Amino acid sequence: MRDVVILGSTGSIGTQALDVVRANPGRFRVRALTAGTNVALVAEQVAEFGPDVVALSTDAAADALRSTLGPDGPTVWGSGGNDRAAALECDVVLNAITGAAGLTPTLAALAAGTTLALANKESLVIGGRLVTDAAAPGQLVAVDSEHSAFAQALRAGRSSEVRRLILTASGGPFRGRSRAELADVTPAQALAHPTWTMGRVITINSATLVNKGLELIEAALLYGVDYDAITVVVHPTSDVHSMVEFVDGSTIAQASPPDMRLPIALGLAWPERVARAASAYDWGVARDWHFEPLDSDAFGAVELARRCGKAAGTAPAVFNAANEVCVDAFCAGSLGFLGIVDTVEAVVAEHLASGFVADTELSVDAVLAADAWARARAAELAGGVR
Ligand code: NDP
Repeated sequence: MRDVVILGSTGSIGTQALDVVRANPGRFRVRALTAGTNVALVAEQVAEFGPDVVALSTDAAADALRSTLGPDGPTVWGSGGNDRAAALECDVVLNAITGAAGLTPTLAALAAGTTLALANKESLVIGGRLVTDAAAPGQLVAVDSEHSAFAQALRAGRSSEVRRLILTASGGPFRGRSRAELADVTPAQALAHPTWTMGRVITINSATLVNKGLELIEAALLYGVDYDAITVVVHPTSDVHSMVEFVDGSTIAQASPPDMRLPIALGLAWPERVARAASAYDWGVARDWHFEPLDSDAFGAVELARRCGKAAGTAPAVFNAANEVCVDAFCAGSLGFLGIVDTVEAVVAEHLASGFVADTELSVDAVLAADAWARARAAELAGGVR
């Protein structure tokens, strides 16, 4: 039996993680649940899973939950409680918070010595060396489907035998469009992802390919692979979740129908597999798998992320934070689709020219300061772009 702490239990990944727990009652026990402010859903989850502790991101939400649950409910924490929950004694912490708010919980779980199943890629991307240095070998387990695929494929050889990581991308809803054809796309169109149902930010990030850029940095940091040895390939149906090419010319691919419950279950049980976590393919049915190169002119986010990853230090934090603001501006209708990556690029360029902190000097304060600066600067610029 594994005791699990689920951070971000009300989101897309969090609720699917609870599906995995529900389907495997003898294998996982929920020690704690956390969320932002979704009191109603957390209250339902408490009734079903009976955690010892619940944390919400504000004191007001925590007060509301306490009064909903009554005197017999579990311990409820407010502001700062996500970090405290991440440090609780347990077998595995799943960080499924969205965005930069996941950084301090990631660091708290690593400091506590607990295995961290990481869906919140942003904390690794922005924390960079701070996160990788804090992690003992094997302590960080990938939940992102592509990185879970890498972890599975990497079991096929030694790290010295790896030549290249091939990161697959669905291409999002606008695959095949030129840059000019992207100018007028709407938030509703961008939210219609062809293969995955996910939270709002990651869905827009999949349309711009910012998500693939974040995943590129995530892969380099998780597996210690040089940025130039990671190739992004478009694969529209998301059957092959990623591949590892070895020095002898062999390529190992991991494939399964798109269903996040598979990498979530593997992340919670790593290095063991959870039987029937998801469906496999029916090989009695004919199918074609298509691969094509990425159009970096139309989708510049991946190469921008590669430049930020190579610069390291505070550059990835600025890339991520500026993007989060631009996604909000796009969804609110004040920024055009192309304005998202164009604005992020402008903010990154300003940061590299002034205010950039290199990896050697990196600290949590420097990351948070860069994050705050990038949000403010992106908000200024995004207001004027359409
Ligand atoms: P959602 O937006 O669906 O859920 C986010 C979760 O984080 C919710 O539980 C939310 O609580 C909580 N949350 C939001 N803000 C805070 C905060 N300040 N403090 C604490 N908790 C907070 O996101 P997803 O589940 O889609 O994504 C979660 C992470 O997983 C992201 O990093 C994403 O990139 C990654 N990921 C997601 C995939 C997917 O298929 N969805 C696939 C691979 C990676 P509340 O409901 O109260 O707001």
